[in-house]
Amino acid sequence: MKPFSVFSLQDKQDLSKVASFEHSRFLAGGTNLVDLMKHQIEEPDQIVDLSSWQEAHQISESDHKVTIGALVTNTELADFAYRQPTLSLLSQALLAGATVQLRNRATTGGNLLQRTRCYYFYDTTKACNKREPGSGCAALDGFNRIHAVLGTSEHCIASHPSDMATAMTALDATVHTMNAAGEVRHIPVRELYTLPGDTPHIETQLGADELITAVSINKTARGTQIYQKVRDRSSYAFALVSVACAMHVKDGIIENINLAFGGVGSRPWHAKSAEDYLRGKSATEALFSQAADVELSAAKGSGGNDFKIPMLKRTLVHVLGQAASHQQQHPDHEGAIHVR
Ligand code: SF4
Repeated sequence: MKPFSVFSLQDKQDLSKVASFEHSRFLAGGTNLVDLMKHQIEEPDQIVDLSSWQEAHQISESDHKVTIGALVTNTELADFAYRQPTLSLLSQALLAGATVQLRNRATTGGNLLQRTRCYYFYDTTKACNKREPGSGCAALDGFNRIHAVLGTSEHCIASHPSDMATAMTALDATVHTMNAAGEVRHIPVRELYTLPGDTPHIETQLGADELITAVSINKTARGTQIYQKVRDRSSYAFALVSVACAMHVKDGIIENINLAFGGVGSRPWHAKSAEDYLRGKSATEALFSQAADVELSAAKGSGGNDFKIPMLKRTLVHVLGQAASHQQQHPDHEGAIHVR
């Protein structure tokens, strides 16, 4: 591993004391960055260590909103969200991700910014436009079973790996940031990530000196919430496809619907076309199938991952059917149900 210096950030105001961000990386739990450094994919000259920044370890709440500090661990957040019916989708997604040990280390800010698990991104002997712009993409004609079918480009088909970010996308979370000049931004998580286009090495709209300080989520009533993850084994596996759904049905009509997909998009995928198609209509299996077709009309497989398109459709129809059925039996229910 290349030698680096360490700047210990005590408070977000300390950002202004960092000499340069050009070859710096923020270190939170380190569950992804340290691996990337060992593989010499990330070679920072300086680490900005966030572990002493106490304020960012807190979760605060008002009547209407929950604000999660950037350093709240995935375990702490899963536990908190489990006891909040309007956020239970988040708990389901977090507990479906990684392992207990990783969740104890991984943080809210770090989880949002984790990098893809594309095999070729981690193999420095292979071409990868994300790792080395202009070098090509070995996944296009390679083993691309885990890759994305939505939001891809001819330059990169990597999928975003985060379950948590998928749930936050469905819940319409807001990401709060601050840069070295003290400028604060409030970015809807649905707008945080950029599509790969011809610059797949750029993954978010954050600047190099811009630090995620917190994530907030409104405590809006959203009805029945389901996070369904399909993966190769029942633990410690990234999603092949996942569906994050919160749905409220009244008298058989879909009054409110929030949908996001994981494992299939170059970013956590807000299924807005499907939401728009479903809202205000009668909750039937035929409608759910049509909504899946609408959202997936632009989906494109690369051979090894073609199966994800019908798999996502079946998963979405199943999840919507389970949520609608539960809502019809328990019209005032707010929170999670688990489906198989
Ligand atoms: Fe690199 Fe993206 Fe191609 Fe994977 S899919 S090899 S991350 S350019």
